[in-house]
Amino acid sequence: MDLKELFAAINDEELEPNSDLAVLREVLLSVTSRRNFDTRTMKKFGELTGKAHQHRRLKPSTHSIEFELVGITGNARRISEFALQVEDILVTVDLSRVKKCEGEECEALFIDESKNKSRRWCDMAHCGALRKSKVFYDKHRRVNPVAEAEIELGAK
Ligand SMILES: [Zn+2]
Repeated sequence: MDLKELFAAINDEELEPNSDLAVLREVLLSVTSRRNFDTRTMKKFGELTGKAHQHRRLKPSTHSIEFELVGITGNARRISEFALQVEDILVTVDLSRVKKCEGEECEALFIDESKNKSRRWCDMAHCGALRKSKVFYDKHRRVNPVAEAEIELGAK
């Protein structure tokens, strides 16, 4: 299951409130904060997945049987695919792996696929690095006043 496109779409900062994508994001956001979905989100999500299921057919090929969406195109198809992926996440993924980035001012959601579920940032190179430099900065700020106080004590 390639979820890159789904997460890129629901992590878009320009996401329109109340749009279908915003509903999908809200569902996963509820999971990250261990909240229940509110009734409105639940209802909208039900409609989105319901519609997707109406268009889903089994597509047998020589080696496997896959699902495909038929009779639906364009943006509606894209939303249906995403809705099915979110549904799939809810039932197949360990939900403690669904996370929101801990980066300051970052609202990105992601699935933590690390072995020990230790991932905290959407992107180590961006949010992770920013956080690290901040911790470094804070440490130095804390250390300096102590060093000054010691000097004063020594002078007495
Ligand atoms: Zn982030």
